Amino acid sequence: MKITVLRLGHRFSRDKRISTHIALVSRAFGAQEVTFDAADPDIEKSLDRVSKEWGGDARITSITNWKKYAEDFQGDIIHLTMYGININDSIKKIKASKKDKLIIIGGQKVPSEVYKLADYNVAIGNQPHSEVAALAVFLDRLQEGKELNAKFQGKKTIIPQEHGKKVIEQGR
Ligand code: SAM
Repeated sequence: MKITVLRLGHRFSRDKRISTHIALVSRAFGAQEVTFDAADPDIEKSLDRVSKEWGGDARITSITNWKKYAEDFQGDIIHLTMYGININDSIKKIKASKKDKLIIIGGQKVPSEVYKLADYNVAIGNQPHSEVAALAVFLDRLQEGKELNAKFQGKKTIIPQEHGKKVIEQGR
């Protein structure tokens, strides 16, 4: 099952940091691809830098027509929104399907078509919070925490410690 994250409404001036966090969370929490409705080279560079250093092959892409992209998607479309059905009541059905997943998250106001296009409108609780938090919780519930044990092959590897930091660097 391939997981793709579609981030709508990226604004270059205001959203760089949060969009970068979306890309990093997508990579670290088991998505294979993250796509934006605007190409922002700064975000692409940040993800590339992290992947070179710490491994993983999450792809970052951009699209110009999100609606066509979503309509053409072969698999389940999940839109994360506080107005949706609580994840506690919807995740079982979503997990039962092994189809590829497209997870849509918004920024500024999400176009109303997204609610209709989605197979599932899912709320990570019915309170407003953040697309980064919503994405992390959804990806974790979808994969039952298994994504946190994934091994990434990079230049650097962390050796987990009770206290302090230990990092092995390739070739050193
Ligand atoms: N009114 C928006 C909504 O529809 O959820 C909140 C905007 S919020 C700043 C930006 C994005 O965060 C939303 O488009 C949604 O993807 C995500 N989000 C925020 N709260 C959420 C929640 N409780 N459940 C799921 N997603 C949420």
